[in-house]
Amino acid sequence: MAKVVKFGGSSLASAEQFQKAGSIIRADQERRYVVPSAPGKRFDKDVKVTDMLYACYDLASSGKEFKEQLRAIEARYQEIIQGLKLKLSLKEEFLTIEKNFNAGAGSNYAASRGEYLNGIIMADYLGYEFIDAAEVIFFKENGEFDADTTNKVLSERLAGVERAVIPGFYGSMPDGRVKTFSRGGSDITGSIVAKAVKADAYENWTDVSGFLVADPRIIENPQAIEVITYRELRELAYMGATVLHEEAIFPVRQEGIPINIRNTNAPEDEGTWIVESTCQKSRYVITGIAGKKGFCSINIEKDMMNSEIGFGRKVLQIFEENGISFEHVPSGIDTLTVFVHQDEFAHKEQKVVAGLHRVVNPDSIDIESDLALIAVVGRGMKSTRGTAGRIFSALAHGNVNVKMIDQGSSELNIIIGVDNKDFETAIKAIYDIFVTTRL
Ligand code: ASP
Repeated sequence: MAKVVKFGGSSLASAEQFQKAGSIIRADQERRYVVPSAPGKRFDKDVKVTDMLYACYDLASSGKEFKEQLRAIEARYQEIIQGLKLKLSLKEEFLTIEKNFNAGAGSNYAASRGEYLNGIIMADYLGYEFIDAAEVIFFKENGEFDADTTNKVLSERLAGVERAVIPGFYGSMPDGRVKTFSRGGSDITGSIVAKAVKADAYENWTDVSGFLVADPRIIENPQAIEVITYRELRELAYMGATVLHEEAIFPVRQEGIPINIRNTNAPEDEGTWIVESTCQKSRYVITGIAGKKGFCSINIEKDMMNSEIGFGRKVLQIFEENGISFEHVPSGIDTLTVFVHQDEFAHKEQKVVAGLHRVVNPDSIDIESDLALIAVVGRGMKSTRGTAGRIFSALAHGNVNVKMIDQGSSELNIIIGVDNKDFETAIKAIYDIFVTTRL
């Protein structure tokens, strides 16, 4: 039995946080493979070590003096080492880093040192083997992650290793150069390691007790989600709910390995389980609510549109030609509305309008801006009557005017369009009806 445990930056920002992580790991013998992030923020205004490394390398690559900045990074690690009372010294490592910065090793290499060094400390602290991610995680020539080679090498390498620390966030290119994933990418490493060892679970330790039903900036103390499916998570994450890197789902999903989001500062909380499928009902019919502001709708009207085959395709082609992705396309008999991101659309607006006139010759085109989209997501909606009714009566009571409704045939979510100004009120109204009052 094996569990892969990944700790985020705030979980490893100081010696005190390291100790919490250490107790968590030692509390369960199955926690055999550890994936650390770089030290994150210790307090609100603090700077993540990854950001310090990027800034330091910027100086180095433009020929400026960077030693002082590198010392400040070294001090962050030194503080952890001393706090943990380890005998470890990173002196040699920092000399190598300095030399490589001078030789133009690249910003990917620079950023990766954050997790590399934290991995060395973690391995020393736990007495686990340290495995450099550059030796077991690979990218292709074109920069894409090389899943097949990685899985082969990594599973072979870990087969004989009882306990190991593998730093998150980076791997290597075919020529040996270090390359990182996108920001927050240690989540992906954890998932890759879990797949390689066919783990029973991938525990992702962070600073919140799991996925929340709604954004805590809008809802005070929202409930945590106990179990969520990969598909529900995709829907919520797309609409802005972030805890886990989007790409972290794929490696474990292929193996059916569940992800457990946990809180390093409250290890007794069960957190959220992310699973392929489940017979467990979510507590509140809906699993979660998420949303984003800043959309535009382009409403196209034309008499007898319904009988014009190819109308929709021609309309969407204009958006494609202008490099604008569409979000939703609700339609009526003689109308078709396209929802797009306002910032993608605004500067191309007149080109799109002219293009639409050219290809479909509409009677009118109406553009509305400053709209928000809200996704109400829940696998439970399929088997529960009246969910839509409850949502819309809650919105009516909250005095929110609904501009658009879109329910996919999967019945996994209902998307609602409202004015930006009604966004928070709408989310509160929906949360209240399903979670607070459970009417
Ligand atoms: N340290 C990296 C970042 O700040 C990667 C990670 O934490 O997952 O983006």
